Amino acid sequence: MGERLRNWAGNIEFGAARVHRPRSVKQVQEVVAGAERVRALGTGHSFNTIADTPADLVSVAGLPADIRIDADARTVSVAGGVRYGELARRLDAEGYALHNLGSLPHISVAGAVATGTHGSGVGLGNLATAISAVDIVSGGGELVSLRRGDADFDGAVVALGALGLVVRVALDIQPAYRVSQHVYERLPRAELDAHWEEIASAGYSVSLFTGWHGDTVDQVWIKRRDEDAPAPAPAELFGAVPAGGKRHPIAVMSAEHCTEQGGAPGPWHERLPHFKLEFTPSSGEELQTEYFVARADAVAAFAAVEQVRDVVVPALQISEIRTIAADRLWLSPHYERDSVALHFTWVPNDDLALRAVDALEEVLAPFAPRPHWGKVFRNAPGYPRGGDFAALAARLDPAGTFRNAFVERHVFGA
Ligand SMILES: Cc1cc2nc3c(=O)[nH]c(=O)nc-3n(C[C@H](O)[C@H](O)[C@H](O)COP(=O)(O)OP(=O)(O)OC[C@H]3O[C@@H](n4cnc5c(N)ncnc54)[C@H](O)[C@@H]3O)c2cc1C
Repeated sequence: MGERLRNWAGNIEFGAARVHRPRSVKQVQEVVAGAERVRALGTGHSFNTIADTPADLVSVAGLPADIRIDADARTVSVAGGVRYGELARRLDAEGYALHNLGSLPHISVAGAVATGTHGSGVGLGNLATAISAVDIVSGGGELVSLRRGDADFDGAVVALGALGLVVRVALDIQPAYRVSQHVYERLPRAELDAHWEEIASAGYSVSLFTGWHGDTVDQVWIKRRDEDAPAPAPAELFGAVPAGGKRHPIAVMSAEHCTEQGGAPGPWHERLPHFKLEFTPSSGEELQTEYFVARADAVAAFAAVEQVRDVVVPALQISEIRTIAADRLWLSPHYERDSVALHFTWVPNDDLALRAVDALEEVLAPFAPRPHWGKVFRNAPGYPRGGDFAALAARLDPAGTFRNAFVERHVFGA
């Protein structure tokens, strides 16, 4: 029996017979050339079996980070296994920034973009939209490089590990900027419906936290870029009031884990994530689910969730509502759709969480929900470019080396 690994949440034990940690691209190629079935493992922050395999699991975290900034092209290239926190610190030190980050800096770049991981912001695409080039060790161990503008590129970024092992990526960068974060509390529920678009657009990045339990939304986190925030933050936000101190989205957790609030400006990478790199993000004892629907359907979707509050609330620690701009990446949950994200942090209880998932998938069905690929869900819809993705996979990986049960079921429709 080989090494036994679990994901971050501990709910999945990977079934891999062998775990590999190559230290060079050449070693990655050798592992792939000698294996029948391979899956990539990033930092293991997904909540389902997306990275699992009974055969060979490969972490590329051991490849040298080799962070290279191209000031003229406004890009940075980096090894795929590098975590956002490490990349962000280096970029900021050199005077550069990314357009956005997820709620936590702990995740690997290749693993995050493979699932379409996102932050928030009506004008901001998910993290995968910043990728401008990928180097993939694909079928037979061949190294394939694709750049933005190449015919297949839009299929190769949110690829769920199904095209091969991403050993290197390039990302768009911009000059470093500063962000201040304000937290408001007790947004009247009716105001959310009446002013949804204004609230979602009240900052560079806006997150709402709710327990779906009553007449108010618990917290609204507004992240403003310095240049967008010449005036002081409003004293009130549609009836929500500034928090009287630092807050964690889950009231019982220590706010020490969270990035600075209260309007103190700081570097972009110390404000865009909700959680600090050196602390456990979120609750730590949890499962997560997230559905994306059109931003224009947000208010109706909130009402739909409230219809199944009786099943959702017993399973829930907290919900987060965010927005993501539409993109052109074939398997992105935000493909050609400006989206609202309805996120649920569950208690770590499979039965309770799955009951809530079933109820949510039923009531959200009229909005054609797309699940987060890395979280707990039952059904994923077909994607408009799903056929093109299958054709691309067949070309790059004719032997199906990078398939597992998860992608067979949810992507290739087996
Ligand atoms: C506490 C917490 C907070 C979270 N917050 C957010 C959030 O704010 N926004 C959001 O959208 N999601 C969030 N997530 C989900 C998380 O971002 C995704 O699950 C993400 O894919 C995890 O990245 P990872 O490096 O851990 O990848 P893994 O979970 O290890 O793998 C995910 C997928 O990527 C593939 N993969 C990994 N590395 C490579 C590689 N080198 N080449 C090819 N494929 C690869 C794997 O095969 C698998 O298919 C959160 C998760 C946790 C635990």
